[in-house]
Amino acid sequence: MQVIFLKQLSYDILIIGGGFAGSTAAWHLSRKGLRILLIDSKPWNRIGDKPCGDAVSKEHFDNLGMPYPEGEQLEQKIEGIKLYSPDMSTEWTVRGEGFEINAPLYTQRILKEARDRGVDVMDLTTAMRPIFEDGHVRGAVIFDRRSNEQSEVRAKVVIEATGYSKSFRSKLPQEFPVTEDLDERDADIAYREVAYTKEDIEEPGYLKIFINQTTSPGGYWWYFPKGRDKVNIGLGIQGGMGYPSIYTFYEKYWSQYGPDVDRNKMIVKGGALVPTRRPLDTLVWNGIIVVGDSGYTANPVHGGGKGSAMISGFCAARTVLDAFERGDFSSASLWETNICYNQRYGAKQASLELFRRFLQRLTDEDINYGMRKKVIKEEDLLEASTTGDLHLSVAEKAMRVIAGIGRPSLLYKLKNVSQYMKEIKELYKNYPESPEGLKRWNAQVKGLISDFEKAMSK
Ligand SMILES: Cc1cc2nc3c(=O)[nH]c(=O)nc-3n(C[C@H](O)[C@H](O)[C@H](O)COP(=O)(O)OP(=O)(O)OC[C@H]3O[C@@H](n4cnc5c(N)ncnc54)[C@H](O)[C@@H]3O)c2cc1C
Repeated sequence: MQVIFLKQLSYDILIIGGGFAGSTAAWHLSRKGLRILLIDSKPWNRIGDKPCGDAVSKEHFDNLGMPYPEGEQLEQKIEGIKLYSPDMSTEWTVRGEGFEINAPLYTQRILKEARDRGVDVMDLTTAMRPIFEDGHVRGAVIFDRRSNEQSEVRAKVVIEATGYSKSFRSKLPQEFPVTEDLDERDADIAYREVAYTKEDIEEPGYLKIFINQTTSPGGYWWYFPKGRDKVNIGLGIQGGMGYPSIYTFYEKYWSQYGPDVDRNKMIVKGGALVPTRRPLDTLVWNGIIVVGDSGYTANPVHGGGKGSAMISGFCAARTVLDAFERGDFSSASLWETNICYNQRYGAKQASLELFRRFLQRLTDEDINYGMRKKVIKEEDLLEASTTGDLHLSVAEKAMRVIAGIGRPSLLYKLKNVSQYMKEIKELYKNYPESPEGLKRWNAQVKGLISDFEKAMSK
């Protein structure tokens, strides 16, 4: 195949990846008088199409001023979540509004709106490698599969939204701060199928989550209705643990969680990875902002990453607009992205990483006990997932009453976890105000995580 080389293009902003993170950034940056190019390797009608549970909380749309999914973009309004203990004897209901979406249709709608407001969108186009000069990202060499052309795109800022692949930032020199890699144990391997059901679903407004360390070690099973007769069913397990393949788990246990699923009427299936850690230590450096899964923005406990991808895209857009006012695209000028993101989500996310590390160590018996005895209550769980604060009034009371007869070591650890969660959240709330403070702050974070690990392994 002959590649035609090398057209030169010039933009203010190059956005690589048109998933939830990249499309949100484009949407918020459009109509601001800037020349913006968004590229995605996928053909237009597949942008936004990736293995996902497709559940997104309503608050993200409200907080960021994004339009709600509507028409075919909205498959089911969510009223709450039902959470089941491993032995299925305890069912908790946590109320909260959300949407079960058709992700490709919603993403393409957002991109179309951005395009109508002047953003250039090129599908079937891949960023092959960065243009990196004088310690700054200055753009990318891109390949357009439709025209078979390679071009050099120069831009003042690159917004890297390549998802879990990290396919652009991973090609930057290793000493460049945003190249930080992830430990496989800080990711979930997840798989899902979307299929019709044999009968109508009883309560389509409720997402079901099943915790069980045998059928989904370090993760959970989900059953997310997409209307009365369609469901997204799948599971996630912790990565890097040497477990059997995700498909082995799916084939063995799917009928336990979705007995009504008609696999002969399957619409789509597939698996992917999702990061379950605190965000990248810095989402920015000279000339680049990393957003979405590539910046490790997903929720460490439940792996939901669409809302936080939107938050990071929003923060990136806001910062870039200020950077253009200043005419400065250095790490210092783009730094506000970190502060915006950590205040809105990253601090809670860091505290939930510790909670996730704790939960993954529990046995099914611990979880059965904890849920039955309400060591943490539904409201506490909701509070923890909204703010990252774990309130232990009940556990403390329980400790006094049942120490000796219950599971004092579990309760003691839980109290310890809540303290560490508070401390790491504080550290993230006091994120350094400029790049100079990053090294010191980072050493504090690493020290705290190492202390936490020691405390948990006692
Ligand atoms: C099985 C599973 C279930 C999940 N369930 C949920 C859920 O119910 N709710 C929820 O909120 N989250 C869920 N998540 C997480 C969620 O899917 C992600 O966090 C979210 O979609 C991340 O969005 P993104 O824009 O960062 O990345 P992506 O959606 O992955 O988008 C990245 C885009 O970049 C493009 N790209 C990559 N490299 C290049 C390149 N070099 N050049 C050009 N384009 C490139 C890709 O084609 C892609 O379109 C789930 C994840 C999995 C795996």
